[in-house]
Amino acid sequence: VPESADAVLDGLDPEQREVATALHGPVCVLAGAGTGKTRAITHRIAYGVRAGVLQPAAVLAVTFTNRAAGEMRGRLRQLGAGGVQARTFHSAALRQLQYFWPKAVGGELPRLVDRKVQVVAEAAARCRVRLDRNELRDVTGEIEWAKVTQTVPADYPAAVATSHRDAPRDPAELGQIYAMYEQLKRDRSVIDFEDVLLLTVGILQDRHDIADQIRRQYQHFVVDEYQDVSPLQQRLLDLWLGERDNLCVVGDASQTIYSFTGATPEHLLNFRVRHPNATVVKLVRDYRSTPQVVHLANGVLSQARGRAAEHRLELVSQREAGPEPLYAEYADEPAEAEGTARRIRDLIAAGVPAGEIAVLYRVNAQSEVYEQALADAGVPYQLRGAERFFERQEVREAGIALRGAARAGGNDSLLDGADDLPAQVRAVLSTKGWTSEPPAGSGAARDRWESLAALVRLSEDFARARPGSGLSDLVTELDERAAAQHAPTVQGVTLASLHAAKGLEWDAVFLVGLTEGMMPITYAKTDEQVEEERRLMYVGVTRARLHLSLSWSLSRSPGGRPSRRPTRFLNGLRPGSGRLATGWSGGAGGIERGAGGPGGRDAGDAVVRRRDRGPVRCRVCGASLTEAGAMKLMRCDDCPSDMDEGLYERLHDWRA
Ligand code: ATP
Ligand code: MG
Repeated sequence: VPESADAVLDGLDPEQREVATALHGPVCVLAGAGTGKTRAITHRIAYGVRAGVLQPAAVLAVTFTNRAAGEMRGRLRQLGAGGVQARTFHSAALRQLQYFWPKAVGGELPRLVDRKVQVVAEAAARCRVRLDRNELRDVTGEIEWAKVTQTVPADYPAAVATSHRDAPRDPAELGQIYAMYEQLKRDRSVIDFEDVLLLTVGILQDRHDIADQIRRQYQHFVVDEYQDVSPLQQRLLDLWLGERDNLCVVGDASQTIYSFTGATPEHLLNFRVRHPNATVVKLVRDYRSTPQVVHLANGVLSQARGRAAEHRLELVSQREAGPEPLYAEYADEPAEAEGTARRIRDLIAAGVPAGEIAVLYRVNAQSEVYEQALADAGVPYQLRGAERFFERQEVREAGIALRGAARAGGNDSLLDGADDLPAQVRAVLSTKGWTSEPPAGSGAARDRWESLAALVRLSEDFARARPGSGLSDLVTELDERAAAQHAPTVQGVTLASLHAAKGLEWDAVFLVGLTEGMMPITYAKTDEQVEEERRLMYVGVTRARLHLSLSWSLSRSPGGRPSRRPTRFLNGLRPGSGRLATGWSGGAGGIERGAGGPGGRDAGDAVVRRRDRGPVRCRVCGASLTEAGAMKLMRCDDCPSDMDEGLYERLHDWRA
């Protein structure tokens, strides 16, 4: 713990100090990735508390994820400023909502809806609209957009017209589905994720006594990642502030990656207009990454266009030179995953801790091959935003029951009459209350049933692959799979989507799947959407401190037609694509051709191994999938779409 308030300022550069010591009035920090924005606001709070200017309980720091909030609280404790509230907008709102609900509305706060997409599907059906899987996803996303922009169903068609949006369906029809969805939620007394903010805003607007109480409690506000604030979050912030302007915001317009939630960098860029007396500070020294990584990051942004790009600040690395970024091209996805896993093993062998390595991809569905490849290579990993199958309560309990039955052997009356392996498994699971038919309705009971059903299917696949195996063979197989997945998570390699990686940093970062169609993703069609994908690429590059690897594969599966091209965002930057890419040190830096070409791994290999692995599961909830489309996406209908990743992430964090 620093000795004094002044000692808290040690380790800050002059501009960061300015942020830390400007404790009154509005402050706005505009700066690129890795320039120490988060560090500056953390030290600012600590300095204010230590200097006796800020009361810890009167400060509300808003971060983007619960993980970031936890990190900030830990850091504040180390700086001798424990007791400050650091939360996400959602968790702060939820806390206030729970507290004030009985007084404002009466009764208990309704519970959060379990399977939102199903409610949307039902609402559509009641409006006599049939939606396929993709349409359902789009309609759900559109309802979320309407809600975070505070557009009520009746106003939705007009809002579409004025916002020049490409609505996924006839706006009048979509407005009706939206209205019905809201009705169904009311009937069932459930609320969705957006409602948490909407209801808080509603109560603070209507009840001045409650708003006053909140304002008496919180006097100082700090917001990290302000470029991604949605209109609804901004409204909440305004209500918390009232007439005051003790607000410090930090952000980077070039990292706006949540436009699909209605986020816009305008709040950040127009801060001065709204608060003419604001202190505006710019930071350009990049403390995170080597000159090589910074050079590439600047290169990715140099081609950017649009509003955010006008405010771009060139980063200047403060670190010593490091290795050149590595570019690798592979024949197919499994080869890319294996190549990546091999490199990761080499890095670990060279002394880089697994916890300091991340594999980042565009959509969660891409994680599957990397999970498998890392497990095969014996490298521990952890997923962000999804629970692993074998870690679920019901799956662990089922495992214990199966082990018990295997030990007891076929004498056991329970297994009488069950002559092949899946029947035995069903019999054992029935003692855990499992039935062959799913329980009615959705919710936790259904989730549990799905997990156990996945175990039964796994046993069926296992019995087919290894005829004559017994229960104890299956238990061994399950243990092996669980162990491969389990490996100590604390020190694991992080697998995460680019959206979930925001604000974080690692010594080594592998950006994978960098092909057209994935980056930018196929459904990014308008110029603005493509620009947002470019910013996502920038976010990815700037997560790396030292080692950065960028890879892509020319076809999806082994033996497939090599029809893919590397992402346009690396044009002119990667070797062999025009102007010299890795030119920082003038180093040669060629593209590595990964294994998987002729003489590489046997194509049949991967296929056999895949079949051995049991059911394809939803990346988010783990439900086993049967439909081809869902299997390809590796996501069931009930889970948020890829684009909703960040929301899911926050929801998951928040539930935990
Ligand atoms: P992002 O835009 O990605 O959120 P950021 O601007 O919030 O980045 P930080 O995460 O605060 O950047 O800082 C990046 C890294 O640089 C951290 O490891 C931080 O500890 C370090 N750092 C920041 N400022 C300094 C400084 N003045 N001296 C040394 N290290 C610093
Ligand atoms: Mg930050």
